[in-house]
Amino acid sequence: MVSYAPMNALAESNCRLCGTADCPAVLDCDRFQVRRCPSCTTLWCDPLRLLPEEEAGSDGVIEDTYLSVDETIQRDNRERLAVIESLAPPSSHPRLLEIGCMHGGFVLQAQRAGYQAKGLDISRPAVEWAAERHPGMVDLGTLDASQPDASMDVIAGFNVVEHMDDPGEFLGHVSRVLRPGGLFVAETPAQESLYHHVLFARAKLLPGMGLQEIGMHPGTHIFKFGRRAWTHVLERRSFEVLDVRAKSTPLRELLAKNRARGLVFAAGTVGFGLAQRVTGLGNRVLVAARAP
Ligand SMILES: [Zn+2]
Repeated sequence: MVSYAPMNALAESNCRLCGTADCPAVLDCDRFQVRRCPSCTTLWCDPLRLLPEEEAGSDGVIEDTYLSVDETIQRDNRERLAVIESLAPPSSHPRLLEIGCMHGGFVLQAQRAGYQAKGLDISRPAVEWAAERHPGMVDLGTLDASQPDASMDVIAGFNVVEHMDDPGEFLGHVSRVLRPGGLFVAETPAQESLYHHVLFARAKLLPGMGLQEIGMHPGTHIFKFGRRAWTHVLERRSFEVLDVRAKSTPLRELLAKNRARGLVFAAGTVGFGLAQRVTGLGNRVLVAARAP
């Protein structure tokens, strides 16, 4: 029998990105449903979170994993920075804020490229690590009302928006904190990916298998965007989408994050990764948009 966790105050069927009410469930999972907004096409887990003890906590393991593949992530960061520099160079867009910057690797690269870059993260171990090496570069926190209006030229968030309880509220702060003509850059998992299509097809074909990997889960990958969803969501807020492209998570990073899952999973990961590169259906999307 499928049993759902008690609905908490965060659970809802209304789209947090565009406000569309009573969005239908498209997938029944073990203890949650996946809903899809028919207007902006965003997917999310309902409930958004399960009880705290059912969610994996951050105890430093995730932070250590990122440090173990730092070289790979730095290469990924150089590609992200190149996109930003081409659309919003430091000469015209000096003030850059990265949300969810972890140890600050991207922030440091941006500083070296000429930006007055700073970062925010909610991981205390990561912020303390950064504070020891680069005082003042990374603060504990996220984008909220404390950030002054029109105080930033670039706001970036890589693999962070999908973890938020309310990306709609976050984008409200992005609109407010960016100066007119400022650049917003985000990277998230994508619906238009081989990984997504295969996992969702399997979950639909084989329901009742209990907990199976669908690339989304309450409390972790809560929301799923994509090229289409980001375009809808940002254009609705009068942003001009300048670049939206498929990307693939570096294989080294994927393998490091899933080290505990064994060889079969590793082989599958490599197979997926190669197929994504061949088909161009990468598992992530990078979007860059200009504020009105
Ligand atoms: Zn929507």
